[in-house]
Amino acid sequence: MTNFPPTDKPFHTHDCDACTFLGWAIDGTPGYQIMCVDLYVCGQEFPTASLIARFSSEPSDYSSRPISAGQPKTMHLLDAYHRARGLGYID
Ligand SMILES: [Zn+2]
Repeated sequence: MTNFPPTDKPFHTHDCDACTFLGWAIDGTPGYQIMCVDLYVCGQEFPTASLIARFSSEPSDYSSRPISAGQPKTMHLLDAYHRARGLGYID
C-alpha cells in the first residue's frame, strides 16, 4: 500500500462541516484505474466520530465506519483509522 503524504486539500467534493480531512491515499489496484481517495474523520468525539473514505465527488460514493466499531478491515478506512489515531482521535 502506497500512501502519499497527507495534503491540506481534499481531492473530491465533500459537503460536511463536521469532517476533518486526514489527507488522501492512492488506490493503485493493478488492472484498475488509479484513484485518489480522500480520508476523513467525521465528528470530534469518541465514540460517536466515524471514519470516511471518499472515492469521488458523487455524494453517495464513500464508505464510513464508526470509530467505536474498532479497527476497520478495508484498506482505506484502515488507513483513515491509523491517521486519526496519529492525531489523537483514537486511544
Ligand atoms: Zn462529516
